[in-house]
Amino acid sequence: MKLATLPLLIILLFASSSAQTRPSARQMAVTIDDLPYVRIGDVAYLPNAERATKKILDALKKHKAPAIGFVNEGKLGNSADRNGRIALLRQWIRANMMLGNHTYSHPDFNRLTIEQFEEEITKGFEVSQGLMKSRVPYQLYFRHPMTHTGDTQEKKEAIEKFLADHGYKVTPHTIENSDFIFNVGYARALQKKDYALAQRIRDAYLDLTIGATAFAEQLAPQVFGREIPQTLLIHVNDLNADCLDELLVRLAQRGYRFVSLDEVMSDPAYQTKDTAVSKFGPSWLWRWSQSLGAKINIDTSADPEPPQWVLDLYKQN
Ligand SMILES: [Zn+2]
Repeated sequence: MKLATLPLLIILLFASSSAQTRPSARQMAVTIDDLPYVRIGDVAYLPNAERATKKILDALKKHKAPAIGFVNEGKLGNSADRNGRIALLRQWIRANMMLGNHTYSHPDFNRLTIEQFEEEITKGFEVSQGLMKSRVPYQLYFRHPMTHTGDTQEKKEAIEKFLADHGYKVTPHTIENSDFIFNVGYARALQKKDYALAQRIRDAYLDLTIGATAFAEQLAPQVFGREIPQTLLIHVNDLNADCLDELLVRLAQRGYRFVSLDEVMSDPAYQTKDTAVSKFGPSWLWRWSQSLGAKINIDTSADPEPPQWVLDLYKQN
C-alpha cells in the first residue's frame, strides 16, 4: 500500500458506499482476457500477477459481477512458477468465476492458417478444463485474440464450424476501452513510483470507459431499436487491478447490473449471426449492423480514443 494512494482510497470507499442505487434496467457481462496476467517489462511475474488477480476478483465479488476469464495457457509456462500460475486460475474458480479459451499462445489469426489456428484452440483449454470440472455442465466460450475472427470468409466460417463442432460459442464484445494501451504507461509509472502520472492515467482511463459505454448505449438502438445487454472486454493487468472497483461503481451508477455471459448471450440481439469479415477486431455492434444491413449513422468521433499523451507513453514502451 502506497501512502500517497490512501486518501484517494478513502474517498473511493466513501463514494461507493454512498452511491445511490438506481433502477437496474441495464445489464452488462464483464469479460476479462489474457489470464493469468499481462506483464509489462521485466518485473517478477508471480507477485504482480497475484496482486492483480486478488484485486480484480475482490472487485468482482464486491459488485456481484459473475465474470469470465479467458486464458492463454501458453503463459502458464514450464518454469518453477507454473504451479503458482495455475493456482491463480484456481482462484478464479474459487471466486465462482468462469474460465474460457483464448487460444494457447495468443496468435493473430490473420497470420495463421485454419489448421494452425485449430491447433491453438485445441491446446488452449487443457488445464482449464480440469479446473472447470466442478462446473460441469457449462457452456464453453472462445474469444479470438485481438478479436480477429478471420480475415477471409473462408477462414472465418471454417473456424466458426470448428468451434461449434467442439461445443464452443464465439464470445462477442460491445464495449472495448483500449485498456491495454493505458496499462503500458500505467505499469511503467508504478514501476518508477510516479504516482501522480499513474493517477492521471487512471482518471483518463475511467473517463474513456464511461465514454465508450455511452457510445455503445447510443449505437445499440440504431441496430436493434433498443438498448441491449452490453459485454465489456478488459484484461488482467495492473490498471484494472487498481481501477476495476471504481469502474464498476461508475457503471452501477449508470444503472448497470452485472450478469453472466450466459445471460447476455440469451438476449435475442446476441443470436444475430455475425457475417461481417474484417482483418480488424471491431465491436459486435458494428458487425451486427453490417450483418443486418442496418442503416446506422455512426459518429465515430463519439467513440472515444485514448488521449495523445497516453498513446505516446504506449509507444515509448
Ligand atoms: Zn487477448
